[in-house]
Amino acid sequence: MRLAEERERLCETGRRMVETGLVLGTSGNISVRQGDLLAVSPGGVALDRLTPAGCPVLDMSGNVVDGDRGPSSEVPMHLAIYASTGASAIVHTHSRYAVVVSATMTELPPIHYNALLLGGLIRVAPYATYGTPELAAHVRTALEGKQAALMENHGAVAIGGDLESALESARLLEWLCEVYVQAKMIGEPRVLTEEELVAVIERAARGWSAPGP
Ligand SMILES: [Zn+2]
Repeated sequence: MRLAEERERLCETGRRMVETGLVLGTSGNISVRQGDLLAVSPGGVALDRLTPAGCPVLDMSGNVVDGDRGPSSEVPMHLAIYASTGASAIVHTHSRYAVVVSATMTELPPIHYNALLLGGLIRVAPYATYGTPELAAHVRTALEGKQAALMENHGAVAIGGDLESALESARLLEWLCEVYVQAKMIGEPRVLTEEELVAVIERAARGWSAPGP
């Protein structure tokens, strides 16, 4: 079986996505790249019911080279992201707060410095029908310089060097959306300034050090 290890990891990641409440039913899809091949979740199967043999392997043009099930309808988006980023894994969800923010805002401003782990401000890719090249192009643009993006009236996408980091980014984005929505309920959230964000980056670059005199 080609990409046996990657397909096994897809199944594990799918289970964790359902367990952690990131996806419901057959919504959401995931893929992992190895060289010039990628393993992707199949269409129409709940992510906690994936099997390695049921996850098709595609070449970078989208042709199925192994597996007997059809790939997720969102493959054009996955291919566009791999073609334009250094990502090796992609997690796409319809997680609740990501959908709430994507349906009401054009961007998610950073109100917590952990947003820097995803690139700071998160863009919302304009709406287009799922599975279309238009949607793929919008998402690719929204991801420029970022580890995640929101998709208008649709959901979220996160990328990473492996499935684990892409999943962590998807969970962090969902947390940031939830925090924003809840902050908005009791007032106008204060957005971190450019200066404050730069100070966080500089602090992180210094690492741990004993307090000075
Ligand atoms: Zn979707």
